[in-house]
Amino acid sequence: MEKLGKPKANRLVFLTSPFQGHINPMLQLATILHSKGFSITIVHLQFNSPNPSNHPQFTFKPITDNLSESKVLQGDILGTVKALNKNCQVPFELYMKQMTEKEDSDDRISCIVYDGLMYFAHTVANNLKLPGIIVRTSAAAGIFNFTVFPHPHQQGYISLLDSMAEEFSTELQSLKLKELHASIKTEYPPDAVLELRAIITSAIKDSSAIIINTMSYLEREALTKIQDIFNASIFPVGPFHKLAPTVSNSLLQEDRSCISWLDKQAPKSVLYVSFGSIVSMTEDELLEVAWGLANSELPFLWVLRPGLVRGSDLLEPLPEIFKKRVEERGCIVEWAPQQDLLAHSAVGGFWTHCGWNSTLESICEGVPMLCRPFFGDQFLNVRYVCHLWRVGLELEELEREKIVKAIRKLMVDGEGEEVRQRAVEFKEKAKLCQIEGGSSYCSLNDLAEHISSY
Ligand code: UDP
Repeated sequence: MEKLGKPKANRLVFLTSPFQGHINPMLQLATILHSKGFSITIVHLQFNSPNPSNHPQFTFKPITDNLSESKVLQGDILGTVKALNKNCQVPFELYMKQMTEKEDSDDRISCIVYDGLMYFAHTVANNLKLPGIIVRTSAAAGIFNFTVFPHPHQQGYISLLDSMAEEFSTELQSLKLKELHASIKTEYPPDAVLELRAIITSAIKDSSAIIINTMSYLEREALTKIQDIFNASIFPVGPFHKLAPTVSNSLLQEDRSCISWLDKQAPKSVLYVSFGSIVSMTEDELLEVAWGLANSELPFLWVLRPGLVRGSDLLEPLPEIFKKRVEERGCIVEWAPQQDLLAHSAVGGFWTHCGWNSTLESICEGVPMLCRPFFGDQFLNVRYVCHLWRVGLELEELEREKIVKAIRKLMVDGEGEEVRQRAVEFKEKAKLCQIEGGSSYCSLNDLAEHISSY
């Protein structure tokens, strides 16, 4: 009901971070909530700015970030996150104050919806007495992992995990959190990682609601556990990309020529290969990937993003002999329309780093995955994909012979049949979440109602 005859506050201010894997889901979520009747303002950094002309229905507002000349942009994600939280709070708060001061009575701000990496937004929301909703663009298990186990490097942690493991059902046991922590080597000092975890956890604790890009059937136990931990309501309304119409939010130019190349290939014959927007590898690793693909004797479409090879500005990182060998059956592009590729009937497998968006996009199209994680939550996602859901195979080593075996198992060998079959089943389950009465459909309605109650 409207209070004192005033129309309801209906404008959502979204605050995005500058990473491709975060910009995509945030703009998709904004599109979904716009379709529910909310007005949207997108506040973004100058660095890696999204393209406003792709979303004429939104108001875009860049804020100064002072990031572009900083060294933090050279692959230091943790440093970048810290710097942008330090640099952006003042300009964001200033902009929000101006907005609230001059807002019309029929266009008032309802709440701030912010990417969890932009945790300073939580302080700004508190200062302005606005509700703040945090969005996690990764798996629910990630939140569980770092809230329940905030100090993985401390002594006694392993025994704690051991004692808790008995309480876990198959879902969380399959993540093998103990081994996961033991196996992850971080290039950052543990204290810096812990500090970031603690800050994000505290933002989650105080937030008015938690939106997660996931589906209940994928993460039932993790969702239940985190709902027990936090007071705020949790809304698993994924997969965002399926609930929003497809609009490209790519920061790099998509090369669509690969679609016509795919049109000429046999059904389910092509392995799509992409390691996302941030991962980098050495030149030697790149060559192992290349020769693994060549020696598999199967068609492939490979995204060789500028910057993929660490510390190299080589324009042509692949040798001529390789290019000659794969001329007929390999297509290499710098950036691709990934969602369209995964939905293409010629694609039969996806070799991925298991970024959360790529994982969800693959599941929704029923494409089985070959998984090779590089850092962070990618390791956790691989556990889900290969050990619990069993819609993918893990590549243990970046070595050409092992790559050949794994690719052939995923794509053609009888041994991979079960994984291929399960991937199709998971696609069907994902569809059920989205239709009327499905878990994400209902959760989205609850979310819209929740926001309207502010
Ligand atoms: N993507 C794309 N074209 C490409 C490679 C990736 O559009 O050639 C998109 C992909 O669809 C996904 C995002 O970039 O939405 C990557 O996010 P993800 O979480 O998978 O990985 P990250 O880049 O964050 O490591």
